[in-house]
Amino acid sequence: MTTDKFTIIIVGGGIAGLATAIALHKPGREIIILDQSKFLREVGAAISLQANATKILRKWGVYDYMANNGGVRDGGFEIFDDKGNLFKSVVLPKDSVSPRLVFHRVDLHNNLLHLATHPTVPDCKVRVELNKKVTFCDSSSGTVETEDGAQFSADLIVGADGIHSRLREIVIPNAPKPQPTGTSAYRILTPISSLEHIPEAKQFMKPLTTMVIGGDRRHVQETTSNAWTSEGSVDKLLQSFAGFPQWLLDVFKETSSTALWQLRTVPPLPTWIRGRVALIGDAAHAMLPLRGQGASQSIEDAEALGVVFDEPCRNREDLESRLQTFFKGRYERASKVQAYSTETGQSEGGTFRDPMEFEEYSTGYDGFQKWITSR
Ligand SMILES: Cc1cc2nc3c(=O)[nH]c(=O)nc-3n(C[C@H](O)[C@H](O)[C@H](O)COP(=O)(O)OP(=O)(O)OC[C@H]3O[C@@H](n4cnc5c(N)ncnc54)[C@H](O)[C@@H]3O)c2cc1C
Repeated sequence: MTTDKFTIIIVGGGIAGLATAIALHKPGREIIILDQSKFLREVGAAISLQANATKILRKWGVYDYMANNGGVRDGGFEIFDDKGNLFKSVVLPKDSVSPRLVFHRVDLHNNLLHLATHPTVPDCKVRVELNKKVTFCDSSSGTVETEDGAQFSADLIVGADGIHSRLREIVIPNAPKPQPTGTSAYRILTPISSLEHIPEAKQFMKPLTTMVIGGDRRHVQETTSNAWTSEGSVDKLLQSFAGFPQWLLDVFKETSSTALWQLRTVPPLPTWIRGRVALIGDAAHAMLPLRGQGASQSIEDAEALGVVFDEPCRNREDLESRLQTFFKGRYERASKVQAYSTETGQSEGGTFRDPMEFEEYSTGYDGFQKWITSR
């Protein structure tokens, strides 16, 4: 490691990994992103970046690019019970410089990939290697091996390899495995044009997040700018939501595509760092999607790494001390948001929790530098 050259391997080119590449763009850096997939297609449906994440996009100077390429500014929340009665309405400020942005997952991924691989600073090289499944990492030497026998080395290794992380097992031998929560999420995509004959569905034509909540079932609907499809069973979806308002079931009938995700979590880990390796995103703090904070927390992690590695590293001890700072600064907050995401799905005496509870804590984050200066 020298002061003018710094090499980084990011394992995983999902939201956390690509955002980290953006955060680490600096002259004299070489960043390699290894991903096991072929990036042929991201799966899923709508995904939101909350105010805490869009503030960071502003800081990086990429907000306009993201907003203009598939980002839909969310106007607020309308929350209904399972009889179809509106019981909560939240209007988000129209003039906010860090609004909640909703994307189709493919758009979000494509935008981050473009920004990650087109640094605007000179002498910063970023390379993505696909079809590279990481099977081993030596956290002390910073060497990574992939399934096809290739080896890569760097000063810093970022484990952004998602909920089923291989790097987690390197950082924490006997790391807990992701546990099923007994809940699943249907992700469906429906063209707005096909909902025009359902009068009650008119609200979906506004850029609003609509929730319908009853017992242990909840429906969350967001507007994205694009239509992408994946396979699944509409009949099973209708059965799962039997008893919910008819207009919602009519909306479900209009979808030709669903995907079912089993929801898993990992308890807070004892550490996210070891030697030259730092875990981020779902590898570090996989959480239920009930607060829509998984991607936003990944972006917070990326921003924090950008802050701690803003200046060139002096030596190995310096690198490890910066990783300590990263971990200390991120752990409490990410673990709280992880816990809140679980609590949001729990009911109190048969009454479901207010989905807006914890919102101020979740979205009122002002970046890692603020945490450093407040110590
Ligand atoms: C149903 C559902 C809805 C959600 N909705 C929202 C939402 O609205 N808002 C929100 O903020 N979050 C949401 N989330 C959570 C969000 O999707 C995740 O928190 C986020 O994608 C985490 O990003 P990541 O980069 O850590 O992991 P991932 O996006 O999973 O990326 C991991 C990457 O690592 C690669 N990889 C894995 N193993 C290896 C390996 N061994 N070698 C090389 N590459 C590897 C994978 O191919 C992948 O590209 C939702 C999640 C679910 C399940």
